[in-house]
Amino acid sequence: MKNYLFGNWKMNMNGAEIDRFFKDLSSGFPEKSETVMAIFPPFVYLERAVKLAKSMGVADKLSIGVQNVHEADKGAYTGEISVKMALDCGAEYSLIGHSERRHVFGESEERIAAKVNACCSRGLKTVLCVGETLEERDRGVTWETIERQLKSGLSGDKIPSDSIVVAYEPVWAIGTGRSASPEDAQEVCGAIRKWLSGRFPGATIPILYGGSVKPDNSESLFSMTDIDGGLVGGASLDPGSFLNMVR
Ligand code: 13P
Repeated sequence: MKNYLFGNWKMNMNGAEIDRFFKDLSSGFPEKSETVMAIFPPFVYLERAVKLAKSMGVADKLSIGVQNVHEADKGAYTGEISVKMALDCGAEYSLIGHSERRHVFGESEERIAAKVNACCSRGLKTVLCVGETLEERDRGVTWETIERQLKSGLSGDKIPSDSIVVAYEPVWAIGTGRSASPEDAQEVCGAIRKWLSGRFPGATIPILYGGSVKPDNSESLFSMTDIDGGLVGGASLDPGSFLNMVR
């Protein structure tokens, strides 16, 4: 299994900051790396990021993705973008079902499943995000929650296993500075691995952990058996931290 480091910029960075990020990143970029890297900038900067990655000579090692897509190809959906549009702008991945989409924007399980299916049918790789709230963890229904999200999100009958990545992001660990312990994260990621082996027998689907990952805790999290890498928010905005976590 390869290693992964994905940076979700959320609604951060402007054009000038993105130019600087890539300049700084390329100066410290590893010549050889086994790590699959991707950055998810705000949609309006997608093409800028794709062009920068190309001009800095890192495009073969660093993919660019979108943070969200709509499941329809086109139509009267003000403010939305389609999978085709994301692909047309050079995206290779889309995050789907991020905790902020589920909890701040009220995305339902049905909608998330429709988005996964739209990505799969159009050839956009999908990072399906799952995770329990603090209330669900305290009630002891962490696994029930994750299993429900996996079952629903991956319910489509035409999902190519090689275009799926699963990210476990406990809601209470996102942006709080309070990461899950490596052992707690491993417990859930191990259960996800087991579940995926039943759903996609023989497939190798990467499992990432996200939620307050930083250079000083990434090594202990990423060394766990069933954690193949990270989906990082805040700490991915700094090129030095990003490269540090890649190393
Ligand atoms: P933080 O790393 O800022 O906690 O965010 C995690 C996340 O939501 C990545 O998708």
